[in-house]
Amino acid sequence: MFRDSYLDHAQIVGQLQTWATQHPQIAHLSTIGQSAAGRDIHLLTIGKNPEQSRPAVWIDGNMHASEVCGSSVALAIAEDILAIHQGANEAGGKPLPAHMADAIRETLFYVLPRLSPDGAEEVLKRGRYVRSSPVDDRVNRGHARWESADIDGNGLTGHMRQLDPDGELVVLRDKDGPEGQPLVPPVMVARLPEDPGPFYKFYPEGHIVNFDGRTIPEPYFLGDNAYDFNRNFPYAWAPEPQQAGAGAYPGSAPETRAVLDFATKHPNIMVWLNLHTFGGVLIRPLGDKPDSKMDAGDLGIYEQVEAWMTEHTGYATVSGFHEFLYEPEKPLHGDLSDYAYHQRGALAYVVELWDLFKQLGIERKKPFVDHYFKFTRKDIRALAEFDRQHNAGRVFGAWKKVQHPQIGEVEVGGFDARVGIWNPPYERLAETCRTQSAAFLRVAALVPRVSVTVVKQERVEGHTRIHIRVANHGYLSTFGLPSAKALPHSEPLRLTARGEGGVTLLAPAEAVVEIGHLNGWGGGLYGGPSAFSPWTRGNGHERFVTLVVAGSGTVQVEVGSCRVGVQRVAVAVTSPTG
Ligand SMILES: [Zn+2]
Repeated sequence: MFRDSYLDHAQIVGQLQTWATQHPQIAHLSTIGQSAAGRDIHLLTIGKNPEQSRPAVWIDGNMHASEVCGSSVALAIAEDILAIHQGANEAGGKPLPAHMADAIRETLFYVLPRLSPDGAEEVLKRGRYVRSSPVDDRVNRGHARWESADIDGNGLTGHMRQLDPDGELVVLRDKDGPEGQPLVPPVMVARLPEDPGPFYKFYPEGHIVNFDGRTIPEPYFLGDNAYDFNRNFPYAWAPEPQQAGAGAYPGSAPETRAVLDFATKHPNIMVWLNLHTFGGVLIRPLGDKPDSKMDAGDLGIYEQVEAWMTEHTGYATVSGFHEFLYEPEKPLHGDLSDYAYHQRGALAYVVELWDLFKQLGIERKKPFVDHYFKFTRKDIRALAEFDRQHNAGRVFGAWKKVQHPQIGEVEVGGFDARVGIWNPPYERLAETCRTQSAAFLRVAALVPRVSVTVVKQERVEGHTRIHIRVANHGYLSTFGLPSAKALPHSEPLRLTARGEGGVTLLAPAEAVVEIGHLNGWGGGLYGGPSAFSPWTRGNGHERFVTLVVAGSGTVQVEVGSCRVGVQRVAVAVTSPTG
């Protein structure tokens, strides 16, 4: 159902519960906290022994309330992972090499499909625009502002237009010049000097709070909802007015705090997918500096991610700093992917789902963010045509006259961006889910995979020697991304041996052996051996430890760290002399 429609909170919970019931061995449902309005924020953990820590992948969607497509894609990825555990060797309906499917089966996944359950309910059920949370607990409430409300009594809270000789909008015509005819249904566009009237003002459907009878306040996207969750994270957080939507302090929203608490307690997260809409673009770090300041090893790994994104989705991949600043040289503050990359050391990025611009035949703009700010009349005509042809006319419709109690006659109902602009048409949702899963489950297969094996057990001079190999078979090192090595939670691995029964450890003298970090084999798209210098590294991906024991019994061996989890091996030792 989530592949062809946008689910409400109860439907998402129902889907997650169904999976947890059907697959109790590999899928555990939990909540990481409650939303401001008291809804549970659900997390599905997928993997063998889901409660046992090991390198993990995080997927979240819908932290911006209107961007409900992220929930569907998160659920689709979860469904594909469950199918892989049932034996499928594919992702997004495309073949996945068997060894990559094996890597998926060894990895732990944390899937959080809806981070703003309160906001999404408002968007889906009332058609209201909410950035993240509809709960507005601001103390500064004495000023005039728009507050969303249903004015015509149809249950929806959309937009209003009002005729005004000094309005900034006109109805778009089918062509430029005097012969152009107004589009039907009408499409509102910014007025140009040559445009004849009529002209319009455009407001959210609702009331003016603290109205003085004459002054109409400027609509503002955070006018009646305080938070942008994606500005409330601690990395480079900055307050209002420097950063709109920042909140009172990092993690001040219960929803973001729940993510912070979970991430802090889960140092094993190696990959972090933060799903948004719209645009058809992957936004990677750095968000606040040019690529020349980025760890070169990290950058090479992101180039590998980019290659898969291009191949499987056709989406562009851009640096947040180079191509996605809303204002030049003004980096965003307090966003989630920066936190996940810098503070949690995750291979983290944003995907803006739904490549609307590409669907309209618009050439890739540089910087990518210009797609949003330089959307021409030609592009808008293409959008209106797309809406008619491929979106059942869900965006542009007829306006209906209604008397507004404060500002007189207005019209409502002619514009609804939820399906077709903010999110893909229902008819394109399944394809969006498939292509994203095909690309992402390749990235997920890069996590480190540590094994502990007894290579050999031999009797030498009356003692038993146990040769143990600790190895990382994954693409990423045991600390994750190269830049993550210095983080406090990137602890080096340790081996601890303990004799049980009649076994005594003779050597090494200490029961604890520092293993350190183990390399991954991956070096980024162009960072490994080259055609011109094909030499590889040494065997930094493995360490050998020899234990010398006396007697019979069991040697309990533990190897790991908080970053990669702990593996346990019990070695039975039988000594002929006792
Ligand atoms: Zn977003």
